[in-house]
Formats: sequence, structure tokens, C-alpha cells
Amino acid sequence: MIEIVCTACGAESLLKREPVYEGFTKTGEELSCASCGHVYASEDEVPFKEKRKIEVFTDDDRPDAVEIFTDDEKQRVCRYCKHYVLNPFAQRCDRHSRFVEATDDCSDFERGDA
Ligand SMILES: [Zn+2]
Repeated sequence: MIEIVCTACGAESLLKREPVYEGFTKTGEELSCASCGHVYASEDEVPFKEKRKIEVFTDDDRPDAVEIFTDDEKQRVCRYCKHYVLNPFAQRCDRHSRFVEATDDCSDFERGDA
């Protein structure tokens, strides 16, 4: 199963991949959101969940992201920050008003109570 974060309904969902036939000839594939049924015109438009993560790790601005965290550094990721907000649709940073991953690290990290 391929996980996506749907651009139409905003949910973490699964990609439905169904072959499209013209007669007996397979002419392509229809890619859609398993949650709301939104059809993506091409594979380029599919908001893969995994792909987003890989892009974070290969971003040139963040060369440290691929390093193995020590226990101390591990505590500085978004999920332990008091600005981290988890809701059913997304993980957000309240301080930066943007979407984050739980494993993102941040220079404005402030330890939460949890
Ligand atoms: Zn959807």
C-alpha cells in the first residue's frame, strides 16, 4: 500500500491504483485517493507521503538531517516541542504556522511538557 497525504481532502490516505483499459488494451492507470476518490492526473501530482519525507532528508539546506541522532539531539525534534500540534489531518508547528514532520528538527525548539 502506498501512503499519500491527499491534496483534495487533506487526509492521510492510501493511493488507489487501477488499470485503465480500452478494449483489452491497458492504456494507463488511474491514480486516486482511497479516502475521497480524488483522481490525480498523473503520478507527478500524487502527494506521496514517503516522497515528502525523502525530500526533507535530501534537502541541501539541511545536511544534518541524515546523521544518526544521539539521544540528546533526538529530543530536539518537533514531536517533543511545545509548538508541535498534532491533529487528525496534519502535524503542524504552531510557532512557524507550517506543516512539519514529527522527526523535523528546528532551531526554535522549545521542550514541551510531555
Ligand atoms: Zn482525498
